[in-house]
Amino acid sequence: MLTVDSVSVSLGGERVLDAVSLSVAAGEVVAVFGPSGSGKSTLLRAVAGLVDVDSGRVLVDGVDVTAVPTHRRSVGMVFQDEQLFPHRDVAGNVSFGLEMAGVERGERDSRVSEVLSAVGLDGFGGRDVSTLSGGEAKRVALARSLAPRPTVLLADEPLTGLDADLHDRLAVEVRSVLRASGTTTLWVTHDRAEAELVADRSVSLLDLGARA
Ligand code: ADP
Ligand code: MG
Repeated sequence: MLTVDSVSVSLGGERVLDAVSLSVAAGEVVAVFGPSGSGKSTLLRAVAGLVDVDSGRVLVDGVDVTAVPTHRRSVGMVFQDEQLFPHRDVAGNVSFGLEMAGVERGERDSRVSEVLSAVGLDGFGGRDVSTLSGGEAKRVALARSLAPRPTVLLADEPLTGLDADLHDRLAVEVRSVLRASGTTTLWVTHDRAEAELVADRSVSLLDLGARA
């Protein structure tokens, strides 16, 4: 479903990713872990088309998208900083990608309820995002990224910064949400234990060809 084929990326004249190869099968959740600065975000940015690759290819669903712009790659992203839209309520945030995709109102509303329910936020649609707890905000960010059913979900440390208890609980919940929705996911984190909680398979970025 997702293939990263010998991708190299340099930033500021330094090689950050050196011929990194990785595949994620349809419906599989793969986590890549590595220390801060090892190139995790750069890997996701390369898959999303947010950074130019020096060489190598990215394939989504068998199609070479290396030269395809981000908005046409069918990838969804979720970040450590949730980046919720402050002027939209919870439902408005989750609905955003569906609006961009031109999904009509009725279908949007039912998809928003379905995804909010999947992340354990039934009845939160009308809430102002400034009133959410840290864990709730992360669930909303996850729901927003899942709503348009991306072919591949790219998750950049979306659980970092939570209290340990809540972190581990959410990691286990997220695993079941991703499994239940069959979402092909590439998840990156500095936290190896989190990688193992969330993913079907975890790999070290340093073993894949990142700079030390
Ligand atoms: P991680 O997400 O694993 O913490 P990053 O992918 O953000 O790592 O960064 C990998 C390396 O690339 C770091 O050394 C970082 O300083 C460097 N880097 C990131 N963005 C840029 C940039 N725009 N210009 C130069 N160097 C960058
Ligand atoms: Mg990062």
